[in-house]
Amino acid sequence: LVSRDNHPDRSTVRVGGVPIGPDTVTLIAGPCAVETPDQTLAAARMAEAAGATLLRGGAYKPRTSPYAFQGLGEAGLRILADVRAETGLPIVTEVVDAHDVELVASYADMLQVGTRNAQNFALLQAVGSVGRPVMLKRGMNATIEEWLMAAEYIAQRGNLDIVLCERGIRTFETATRNTLDISAVPVAQRLSHLPVIVDPSHSGGRRDLVLPLTRSAIAVGADGVIIDVHPTPEQALCDGPQALVDGDLAELAAIARDFPPLM
Ligand code: PEP
Repeated sequence: LVSRDNHPDRSTVRVGGVPIGPDTVTLIAGPCAVETPDQTLAAARMAEAAGATLLRGGAYKPRTSPYAFQGLGEAGLRILADVRAETGLPIVTEVVDAHDVELVASYADMLQVGTRNAQNFALLQAVGSVGRPVMLKRGMNATIEEWLMAAEYIAQRGNLDIVLCERGIRTFETATRNTLDISAVPVAQRLSHLPVIVDPSHSGGRRDLVLPLTRSAIAVGADGVIIDVHPTPEQALCDGPQALVDGDLAELAAIARDFPPLM
């Protein structure tokens, strides 16, 4: 269902009216985690300033350590809905448990499946059944074939509104959190008709790499990028070191403007 063999034209997925697909480069930005109403609104204003048309933000956070901040849950979803009402930006947010899919879908414009759940087949089937677009991160240990098969689980439930997101894979390299597999973008676009975006924030895990990796993503033809921003990253409860700050926004906006989409 997701293969390009039976569907030669590349697809566009619409999220609350915002297109992600071959004719555009969609900028998704926002906080890694929803922490407070003020922090989320400030991050959404930063996203807008950079030209983002979709707001990201996690209310359910799949953390490596069980002692780390796990997200605000439904209270976080309510904050996101309030910020959407204030800014008009449709919401992309992660769901980590199949039991929460309907609840998260009742707030979200797009459901995100993260790298740690990328082969959680019960979750993939649940998000495929709920009638919302899905952003499927690549598993950090998944081959491109396994990533596309994970997308197939969603599609098989009748939902073809899937956006693939390359977010780095685990390699022997320790200088970055994960290694951004930039070649996965054109490879996945040749194998699948689904849009492919890149997360330069979670792949590198370092603020100084986000803008260079964004440039590389757009240069190889990614259909969008998803980027962490935070008004006060030194106080962030999650992944502060990778969040862009106010001073980075003009450059981010210029990158998105200067690279017309590859057709
Ligand atoms: C995220 O985008 O909030 C996230 C946790 O990403 P990943 O699943 O790619 O680590």
